Parts: sequence; C-alpha cells; structure tokens
Amino acid sequence: MVSVVEPATEEVLAELPQAGVEETDAAIARAREAFPAWRRIAAGERAELLRSVAARVRESAEDLARLEARNVGKPISDARGEVEMVADVFSYYAGAPERLLGDTIPVDGGLDFTFREPLGVVGLITPWNFPLAIVSWKLGPALAAGNTVVLKPAELTPLTALELEKLVVEAGIPEGVFNVVVGQGRVVGERMVEHPDVAKVAFTGSTEVGRRIAARAAETIKRVTLELGGKSANVIFADADLERAAAAAPMAVFGNAGQDCCARSRILVERSALDRFMSALEEAVEAIRVGDPLDDSTEMGPLISAGQRESVATYADDDAPIAIRGSAPEGKGYWFPPTVLCPVSNDDRAAREEIFGPVACVIPFRDEEEAVRLANDTIYGLSGSVWTRDGARALRVARAIDTGVMSINSNNSVRVTTPFGGFKQSGTGRELGPHALEHYTELKNVYYATEG
Ligand code: NAD
Repeated sequence: MVSVVEPATEEVLAELPQAGVEETDAAIARAREAFPAWRRIAAGERAELLRSVAARVRESAEDLARLEARNVGKPISDARGEVEMVADVFSYYAGAPERLLGDTIPVDGGLDFTFREPLGVVGLITPWNFPLAIVSWKLGPALAAGNTVVLKPAELTPLTALELEKLVVEAGIPEGVFNVVVGQGRVVGERMVEHPDVAKVAFTGSTEVGRRIAARAAETIKRVTLELGGKSANVIFADADLERAAAAAPMAVFGNAGQDCCARSRILVERSALDRFMSALEEAVEAIRVGDPLDDSTEMGPLISAGQRESVATYADDDAPIAIRGSAPEGKGYWFPPTVLCPVSNDDRAAREEIFGPVACVIPFRDEEEAVRLANDTIYGLSGSVWTRDGARALRVARAIDTGVMSINSNNSVRVTTPFGGFKQSGTGRELGPHALEHYTELKNVYYATEG
C-alpha cells in the first residue's frame, strides 16, 4: 500500500495498492483483447461514446476538481478550469472518428487509397502536475482513432485517473478499452515500455525519464511521443505594454506553484526598461494570494511534496540575488513563496535547469539579437512569449525562437484545438488539435488493380 498525501495539509488522502509486473501484463492483455471489437465499432458510434464521456466528466466536474485540487495542492479555480478542458477535449475528439480521412492517389493500372489505422494497445505514462488534463490529451485522440489504452498515472496523483476510469465505463465504453494501473514508474512504466504488445508509449514527464523511455522503446521499435521539460523565455521589449507584461509575468511562472512545463521562468527584459518593469513586477508578485487550495480566491498553492520543496529551495540559495519574495503560509504543507531572482546570467544554474517551482529569473538583454540568442541558449524548446508593440519584430522573434509554442503579447500556451509540444529536448510529437491524431494512427496504403 502506498499513501497518497494532500500537499496543503500533509494528511493522507488515500491508501492504494501498487501494481507489479503481473498486474501490468494483465492490463495489457485486457487492452489487447478489447482492441479488435473497439477498432471495428462504427465511427459514428465511437464518436457518440466519446461525447458521452465528455458528458459524464461535466456531470462530475465539481467532485473531480476538488479531488484534483486536494491531491495536487492546486487552486480550486485552476482545477475547475482543467476539468472543463478535459470535457472539452473529449467533445473535440468525438469529432475525429468520422473525420479520419484518407487520400486517393492517381496511379497506373488501378486505384490507390490511404487509411488511418489504429496502432493497437497504447501505453500512457503521465506526471503529477496536471494529472487529469494530461491524461485527456492522450486518451481522447487514442480512443477516437480506435486504440485501446493502458494508463499509468504518477505515483503522487493517481486519484482522478481512477475516477475517470469509472466514468469511461459508465459512459458505455466497453470494459478493457481503458485500463488504469497504479504503480511505480520503474516497475509498471518500464514494463509498458518494454512489452511487445504495446504499440506506442505516450509519455509526459521529465526529460531524464523521457530519454530512458526513448532508448528502451527502441528495442521493440515502439512509437513514442514525449512531452518533456522546459525553461521557456518570456521576452519583454521596452516598447511593450509594460504594465500588462509585468502583470501577466508572475502567473506565467507561479501558476501551479511553478510546476508547469510551460513556465516562462526566464524573464528576459530589455535593459532600458528593467527598472520600470521590476517595480511593476514587484507589485504583481506581492499581490499573489498563496494559500488554501480549496479557497476560491487562492492563486497559488503548495508544492507537491517535501522533496520538491527541498529541490526548489536550492535554486533560491544560489548566487543570484533574490529581488522579490512573495508570501506563503507557515506550518503544515509544502509551501514556498513566489521568488524572483534578478539580475541572473543565462549561464547561472537557476537559468539553465528546470526548477519546477515558484522561482523566476530576470535576465536583462541589450537588443533583439541578444534576446533571441539568450532565449535559444537552452537545451529546451517548449513554450515562450514575446511582448512588443512592433508587429514586425513580434513575428521575427516568434519565428526565430526554437520552441514549439509561442505567444505574442500573451503567456497562453495550451488550447484544445491547437498543437502543443516541444522542440529540442522538450520532446517529440504533438498533442491536442488535429495533429495529435497522426501520432495515434498508422498510415496504410492500399492499391486496387482494376486493369488486366
Ligand atoms: P517524471 O519523469 O519523474 O515522471 C513522469 C511519469 O513517468 C510518472 O508517472 C512516473 O512514474 C513515470 N516514470 C518514472 N520513471 C520511469 C521509468 N523508468 N520508466 C517509465 N516510466 C517512468 O516526471 P514528474 O516529476 O512526474 O513530472 C515533472 C516533469 O514533467 C517535469 O520535468 C515537467 O517539465 C514535465 N512535464 C512536461 C509536460 C509537457 O507537456 N511537456 C507537462 C507536464 C510535465
């Protein structure tokens, strides 16, 4: 049995048995058995079943949001938004089964068409920071394309995935199509990655584990998509609407207590605007409401665990000076105040490593050329922003930064309908939007001889 802990109180929320290799193999076998019937279900019927999952999620939205808020320590208002997104993801991919179109290709002597075929059993391995949302980004397109699924949620946050498993069955999706296995990454995760009956692994997590998964998956030529870490740049030019940029910058790092792969944790500010920017930033950071995740007005909760807090604290103890420090509750709970380091060099450890906590680095730059060079001087490439009133420059910089998701005069990264994923060591493949479906299907070509 393993205890699932509530980070805001350090109380035990649940005790769960941990699966081993045998249980993992059994779940893969169930998914394999369910695959032939699920792939044959008429596209319209599969669409209807996905709509029904979306409806079930909506009906249970408040319970799911509260469970997620308690288990992750995230503000309830954020958790509500994420659950709404989960329902939207299933609604969106309910439109996919009837739109998985193929091509007809002119050839000599016959007809030629392409089909998008499901892969078979797909293994999902997910992290603890957006537990339910990230499951839906994978499960929606996987089921829509006719695959069956085995999911291993993160050890620290398995509770909403287990609820979703029940809702999927209640929605009418046959038993065996979606299977949740709770256990350790090193045991359940590795077994899924090495198992010959798993056709693909869709992973979200750290770059370190992603690297290991890619290497092991190569042994069975498994399809792999990886959504990994980030160290994204928020580039702010002196001609930007500095008030708006400074008001938005804190939550682009401190949202989800900084445990966000899209965190724009390197705030690059044009040197001539640094003082003005920092005083507006200070006001915004000090106004952040850190506290009880279940309070409607809370904007930032605790970190996920004591270990995470220890790791985050090492960055605030490093050489870069602490310029701004917000507040955090004392006593029980894994609290850490929103912290801004300034000035930071892009070579400092705090600017190079993914901190995954509420620590932002402000890095001054001289001109556009230096801003782009600094933004790209990282092994990662997940998200990023540029703030300027010069439209041509906004587009130049957005194109020049090597990253999967860029925003202009905004820090928004994720939408149900648009592709999300990383360049460089932030991963491979795309989630959400129509693009995700390509990663859950194989392209088949069929030639039909009509002459001779
Ligand atoms: P993690 O890599 O430690 O764990 C992620 C998942 O992998 C967990 O379910 C874990 O049990 C499993 N796992 C661990 N070792 C494994 C192994 N050897 N084989 C198979 N599975 C294994 O990451 P985490 O600490 O849960 O999450 C934080 C990380 O996730 C951060 O680096 C963050 O940037 C990243 N993340 C990325 C995205 C994205 O979309 N790019 C989104 C959220 C989080």
